[in-house]
Amino acid sequence: MLGALVDLLLPARCPGCEAPGPGLCADCRDQLVAIDDPCPRCAGPLAGGLCPGCHGAGLPHVAGVRCAWAYAGLLAHLVGEAKAIGRPWAVRVCAGLLPVHDLDDIDVVVPVPASPGRRPGPHLGTALARRAARAVGSPMRRALAHTRHAEPQHRLGAAQRRDNVRGLFRATGAVTGRVLLVDDLLTSGATLAECAGILRRAGADEVRGLVLARTLADASGRRDGPR
Ligand SMILES: [Zn+2]
Ligand SMILES: [Zn+2]
Repeated sequence: MLGALVDLLLPARCPGCEAPGPGLCADCRDQLVAIDDPCPRCAGPLAGGLCPGCHGAGLPHVAGVRCAWAYAGLLAHLVGEAKAIGRPWAVRVCAGLLPVHDLDDIDVVVPVPASPGRRPGPHLGTALARRAARAVGSPMRRALAHTRHAEPQHRLGAAQRRDNVRGLFRATGAVTGRVLLVDDLLTSGATLAECAGILRRAGADEVRGLVLARTLADASGRRDGPR
Protein backbone atom coordinates (compact mmCIF):
# COMPACT_ATOMS: atom_id res chain seq x y z
CA MET A 1 0.00 0.00 0.00
CA LEU A 2 2.75 2.42 0.99
CA GLY A 3 4.76 1.25 -2.01
CA ALA A 4 1.85 2.06 -4.31
CA LEU A 5 1.52 5.51 -2.74
CA VAL A 6 5.22 6.25 -3.16
CA ASP A 7 4.92 5.08 -6.76
CA LEU A 8 2.13 7.57 -7.33
CA LEU A 9 3.68 10.53 -5.56
CA LEU A 10 7.39 10.49 -6.26
CA PRO A 11 8.62 12.39 -9.29
CA ALA A 12 8.89 9.89 -12.13
CA ARG A 13 12.14 8.61 -13.51
CA CYS A 14 12.52 6.89 -16.83
CA PRO A 15 11.55 3.25 -16.10
CA GLY A 16 14.13 2.08 -18.64
CA CYS A 17 17.28 3.87 -17.50
CA GLU A 18 16.24 5.88 -14.41
CA ALA A 19 17.09 9.20 -16.07
CA PRO A 20 15.14 11.96 -14.29
CA GLY A 21 11.97 13.15 -15.99
CA PRO A 22 8.44 11.87 -16.43
CA GLY A 23 7.86 8.64 -18.33
CA LEU A 24 10.07 6.96 -20.89
CA CYS A 25 13.04 9.04 -22.09
CA ALA A 26 13.59 9.44 -25.82
CA ASP A 27 16.51 6.98 -25.87
CA CYS A 28 14.49 4.24 -24.20
CA ARG A 29 11.47 4.92 -26.36
CA ASP A 30 13.74 4.38 -29.36
CA GLN A 31 14.52 0.90 -28.01
CA LEU A 32 10.90 -0.23 -28.20
CA VAL A 33 10.40 -2.73 -31.00
CA ALA A 34 7.76 -1.48 -33.41
CA ILE A 35 5.91 -3.92 -35.67
CA ASP A 36 6.80 -2.71 -39.13
CA ASP A 37 3.97 -2.83 -41.63
CA PRO A 38 1.51 -4.75 -39.43
CA CYS A 39 -1.28 -6.86 -40.95
CA PRO A 40 -4.50 -4.82 -40.61
CA ARG A 41 -6.42 -8.00 -39.77
CA CYS A 42 -4.25 -9.60 -37.07
CA ALA A 43 -1.45 -7.05 -36.44
CA GLY A 44 1.28 -9.57 -37.21
CA PRO A 45 4.18 -8.48 -39.40
CA LEU A 46 3.44 -8.74 -43.12
CA ALA A 47 5.98 -10.47 -45.34
CA GLY A 48 5.85 -9.00 -48.83
CA GLY A 49 2.20 -8.00 -48.51
CA LEU A 50 1.16 -11.46 -47.31
CA CYS A 51 0.35 -12.25 -43.71
CA PRO A 52 2.04 -15.47 -42.60
CA GLY A 53 -0.04 -15.34 -39.41
CA CYS A 54 -3.63 -15.17 -40.67
CA HIS A 55 -3.19 -15.33 -44.48
CA GLY A 56 -5.49 -12.31 -44.71
CA ALA A 57 -8.35 -14.04 -42.90
CA GLY A 58 -7.82 -12.18 -39.61
CA LEU A 59 -9.26 -13.33 -36.30
CA PRO A 60 -12.82 -14.70 -36.10
CA HIS A 61 -15.41 -11.99 -35.34
CA VAL A 62 -12.74 -9.24 -35.36
CA ALA A 63 -12.88 -6.66 -38.15
CA GLY A 64 -9.24 -5.70 -37.71
CA VAL A 65 -6.54 -5.29 -35.07
CA ARG A 66 -4.41 -2.26 -34.29
CA CYS A 67 -1.13 -2.84 -32.46
CA ALA A 68 2.10 -0.87 -32.53
CA TRP A 69 4.62 -2.78 -30.46
CA ALA A 70 6.24 -6.18 -30.26
CA TYR A 71 6.07 -7.77 -26.81
CA ALA A 72 9.82 -7.80 -26.21
CA GLY A 73 12.63 -6.12 -24.31
CA LEU A 74 11.78 -2.96 -22.40
CA LEU A 75 8.07 -3.11 -23.26
CA ALA A 76 7.80 -6.67 -21.91
CA HIS A 77 9.46 -5.41 -18.72
CA LEU A 78 6.99 -2.49 -18.45
CA VAL A 79 4.00 -4.77 -19.04
CA GLY A 80 5.35 -7.10 -16.36
CA GLU A 81 5.62 -4.25 -13.87
CA ALA A 82 2.10 -3.12 -14.79
CA LYS A 83 0.42 -6.54 -14.75
CA ALA A 84 2.25 -8.79 -12.34
CA ILE A 85 3.18 -6.15 -9.81
CA GLY A 86 0.42 -3.62 -10.55
CA ARG A 87 2.66 -0.57 -10.39
CA PRO A 88 0.61 2.56 -11.17
CA TRP A 89 3.50 4.30 -12.95
CA ALA A 90 4.00 1.32 -15.25
CA VAL A 91 0.28 1.29 -16.08
CA ARG A 92 0.51 5.01 -16.91
CA VAL A 93 3.59 4.57 -19.11
CA CYS A 94 1.97 1.65 -20.96
CA ALA A 95 -1.25 3.61 -21.50
CA GLY A 96 0.82 6.42 -23.02
CA LEU A 97 2.24 3.97 -25.57
CA LEU A 98 -1.14 2.75 -26.86
CA PRO A 99 -1.58 3.66 -30.57
CA VAL A 100 -4.82 5.65 -30.35
CA HIS A 101 -4.38 8.00 -33.32
CA ASP A 102 -6.88 7.99 -36.20
CA LEU A 103 -9.39 5.61 -34.68
CA ASP A 104 -12.63 6.76 -36.28
CA ASP A 105 -16.27 5.77 -35.97
CA ILE A 106 -16.08 4.04 -32.60
CA ASP A 107 -19.31 4.08 -30.55
CA VAL A 108 -18.09 2.33 -27.42
CA VAL A 109 -14.78 1.10 -26.01
CA VAL A 110 -14.81 -2.23 -24.15
CA PRO A 111 -11.91 -3.69 -22.14
CA VAL A 112 -11.18 -7.39 -21.93
CA PRO A 113 -12.06 -7.75 -18.25
CA ALA A 114 -9.69 -8.31 -15.36
CA SER A 115 -9.32 -11.92 -14.21
CA PRO A 116 -11.26 -12.73 -11.07
CA GLY A 117 -9.00 -12.96 -8.05
CA ARG A 118 -6.18 -10.91 -9.55
CA ARG A 119 -4.06 -8.83 -7.20
CA PRO A 120 -5.44 -5.39 -6.23
CA GLY A 121 -4.27 -2.26 -8.00
CA PRO A 122 -4.91 -0.69 -11.37
CA HIS A 123 -5.83 -3.13 -14.15
CA LEU A 124 -3.75 -2.55 -17.26
CA GLY A 125 -6.40 -3.54 -19.81
CA THR A 126 -9.00 -1.24 -18.24
CA ALA A 127 -6.51 1.65 -18.05
CA LEU A 128 -5.72 1.14 -21.74
CA ALA A 129 -9.43 1.13 -22.61
CA ARG A 130 -9.97 4.32 -20.64
CA ARG A 131 -7.13 5.99 -22.54
CA ALA A 132 -8.58 4.81 -25.87
CA ALA A 133 -12.04 6.06 -24.90
CA ARG A 134 -10.66 9.53 -24.13
CA ALA A 135 -8.79 9.56 -27.45
CA VAL A 136 -11.78 8.55 -29.59
CA GLY A 137 -14.28 10.61 -27.58
CA SER A 138 -16.60 7.65 -26.88
CA PRO A 139 -17.60 6.04 -23.59
CA MET A 140 -15.82 3.08 -22.06
CA ARG A 141 -18.17 0.32 -20.96
CA ARG A 142 -17.46 -2.86 -19.04
CA ALA A 143 -19.60 -4.91 -21.40
CA LEU A 144 -17.81 -8.21 -20.69
CA ALA A 145 -17.37 -10.22 -17.50
CA HIS A 146 -15.79 -13.55 -16.61
CA THR A 147 -17.94 -16.62 -16.11
CA ARG A 148 -15.29 -18.61 -14.24
CA HIS A 149 -11.62 -18.90 -13.46
CA ALA A 150 -9.28 -20.03 -16.21
CA GLU A 151 -5.68 -21.14 -16.50
CA PRO A 152 -3.32 -18.27 -17.29
CA GLN A 153 -2.98 -18.33 -21.07
CA HIS A 154 0.82 -18.15 -21.07
CA ARG A 155 1.11 -21.76 -19.86
CA LEU A 156 -0.81 -23.07 -22.86
CA GLY A 157 -0.31 -23.80 -26.55
CA ALA A 158 -2.49 -22.27 -29.28
CA ALA A 159 -5.18 -25.00 -29.37
CA GLN A 160 -5.33 -25.13 -25.58
CA ARG A 161 -5.66 -21.32 -25.48
CA ARG A 162 -8.82 -21.55 -27.60
CA ASP A 163 -10.29 -24.24 -25.33
CA ASN A 164 -9.25 -22.31 -22.24
CA VAL A 165 -11.12 -19.14 -23.24
CA ARG A 166 -14.22 -20.85 -24.70
CA GLY A 167 -17.16 -19.81 -22.52
CA LEU A 168 -14.85 -17.83 -20.26
CA PHE A 169 -16.65 -14.51 -20.82
CA ARG A 170 -20.24 -13.27 -21.00
CA ALA A 171 -21.84 -10.02 -22.05
CA THR A 172 -23.14 -7.87 -19.20
CA GLY A 173 -25.97 -6.53 -21.38
CA ALA A 174 -26.94 -5.62 -24.93
CA VAL A 175 -24.30 -3.91 -27.08
CA THR A 176 -24.92 -1.70 -30.09
CA GLY A 177 -22.83 0.03 -32.72
CA ARG A 178 -19.15 -0.22 -33.48
CA VAL A 179 -17.02 -1.53 -30.63
CA LEU A 180 -13.33 -1.04 -29.97
CA LEU A 181 -12.20 -4.04 -27.91
CA VAL A 182 -9.04 -3.29 -25.92
CA ASP A 183 -6.54 -5.69 -24.37
CA ASP A 184 -2.95 -5.43 -23.24
CA LEU A 185 -1.42 -8.31 -25.19
CA LEU A 186 -2.19 -10.47 -28.17
CA THR A 187 -0.53 -13.85 -28.70
CA SER A 188 -2.79 -16.34 -30.46
CA GLY A 189 -5.72 -13.90 -30.64
CA ALA A 190 -7.96 -16.49 -28.93
CA THR A 191 -9.07 -14.10 -26.18
CA LEU A 192 -9.81 -11.26 -28.59
CA ALA A 193 -11.78 -13.55 -30.94
CA GLU A 194 -13.79 -15.10 -28.10
CA CYS A 195 -14.68 -11.66 -26.67
CA ALA A 196 -15.51 -10.27 -30.11
CA GLY A 197 -17.88 -13.17 -30.81
CA ILE A 198 -19.73 -12.49 -27.57
CA LEU A 199 -20.02 -8.77 -28.33
CA ARG A 200 -21.33 -9.54 -31.82
CA ARG A 201 -23.93 -11.94 -30.44
CA ALA A 202 -24.87 -9.25 -27.91
CA GLY A 203 -25.66 -6.89 -30.79
CA ALA A 204 -22.44 -5.11 -31.81
CA ASP A 205 -22.38 -4.17 -35.51
CA GLU A 206 -18.60 -4.48 -35.71
CA VAL A 207 -15.74 -5.22 -33.33
CA ARG A 208 -12.24 -3.89 -33.88
CA GLY A 209 -9.30 -4.81 -31.67
CA LEU A 210 -6.73 -2.51 -30.10
CA VAL A 211 -3.81 -4.02 -28.19
CA LEU A 212 -0.68 -2.55 -26.69
CA ALA A 213 1.69 -5.28 -27.81
CA ARG A 214 1.80 -8.50 -29.73
CA THR A 215 4.04 -11.49 -29.26
CA LEU A 216 5.87 -12.45 -32.40
CA ALA A 217 6.96 -16.01 -33.13
CA ASP A 218 10.75 -16.15 -32.93
CA ALA A 219 12.93 -18.29 -35.18
CA SER A 220 12.00 -21.45 -33.28
CA GLY A 221 8.30 -20.68 -33.59
CA ARG A 222 7.96 -20.39 -29.83
CA ARG A 223 5.70 -17.66 -28.51
CA ASP A 224 5.99 -15.89 -25.19
CA GLY A 225 3.56 -13.87 -23.18
CA PRO A 226 0.44 -14.13 -21.17
CA ARG A 227 -2.18 -14.09 -23.89
ZN1 LIG B 1 15.45 6.00 -20.36
ZN1 LIG C 1 -2.76 -11.21 -40.53
